[in-house]
Amino acid sequence: DEFCRKLPKVELHAHLNGSISEATLSKLIERKLKDFPDGVELAVAQRTINKGQRRTLDECFAMFRIIHPLTDTAETIYMVTCDVIRDFAEDNVKYLELRSTPRHVPATGMTKETYVRAILKAIEDCKESMDIIVKFMLAIDMRNTLEGADETVELANKLKDCSNGVVVGVDFSGDPKAGDARSFIPVFQKAQSYGLKLALHLAEVPERNEETLEVLKLIPGRVGHGTFLLPEDGGNQELVDVMVQNKIPLELCLTSNIKGQTVAAYDNHHFKKWYDIGHPISVCTDDKGVFSTTLSEEYSILAQTFELSQEKLWDISYKSIDLIFADEKTKAYLRGVWEKERENVF
Ligand code: 5GP
Repeated sequence: DEFCRKLPKVELHAHLNGSISEATLSKLIERKLKDFPDGVELAVAQRTINKGQRRTLDECFAMFRIIHPLTDTAETIYMVTCDVIRDFAEDNVKYLELRSTPRHVPATGMTKETYVRAILKAIEDCKESMDIIVKFMLAIDMRNTLEGADETVELANKLKDCSNGVVVGVDFSGDPKAGDARSFIPVFQKAQSYGLKLALHLAEVPERNEETLEVLKLIPGRVGHGTFLLPEDGGNQELVDVMVQNKIPLELCLTSNIKGQTVAAYDNHHFKKWYDIGHPISVCTDDKGVFSTTLSEEYSILAQTFELSQEKLWDISYKSIDLIFADEKTKAYLRGVWEKERENVF
């Protein structure tokens, strides 16, 4: 609704290729069809994108097999990054942390480094025309080899120093059924030693308690989803204790969890329990393109489902500033922005 749209917002969990809007995707498909007029597969892909509402987690991941071939050059990555940043800015997101998995595509000459540099250039270029601060995290895919993950951390460290504070950390994501997070502990530790923050997808699917506990002991900067941490969801008290004692913030993506069918219904979402005990949480979109949502809509759904007042929504948004990976100066600046926006919102 109008209040949620006007509310200044922080977005901390957004995968670049999952955040591409339908309008931008159509643009990409048209371009491909021009180069490959017999692109029957792409025409099918277009229908798939325009189709459904609820999908299984596997079907959600199938979407990335359609999207990734459309974003296979550094030039396209630059273009979609600009579009995605503009979408968030228009939704009154004032601070955005994007994340993306660097890809090497030998056929087009795109390397992991040119991939990330294209994103950083887009972020730099958007600064002038858009009222939004954007930071970036390089993502490690669970299907990566240890060497591949190490390469990503080294690249993150290299680009951190020349990115003017834009590269803030490393994400760990990808098909949660594919791998075991424990095998990546050495590279996570290396990232921490470089001063990179960790945003890790953990307990996104059930029956990962031991793996989750071991990785949580690294005290990541934030946890993505954490759907199966609570004892009543199949987690256990030990997991909750590590989260609570170390105040590890949770990035919660309601629509993503409903559409990916890891949570049965909005009112069952673990948001409520963590919110009620005052644990640090932020509301996020995950993949606004794939899941057809916006951050405003996520706030609106939260308000309707859990009967939260406007004051409480404001509070959730304001407190998300504490959870960003940027420095204290940026946090202070954002608090100022929120104070200024307050009278426009209420
Ligand atoms: P990209 O990293 O290519 O910019 O964005 C798409 C990628 O993000 C997917 O291939 C996947 O690795 C990751 N991703 C997007 N959404 C999710 C999610 O809900 N869960 C997990 N584990 N990974 C995701």
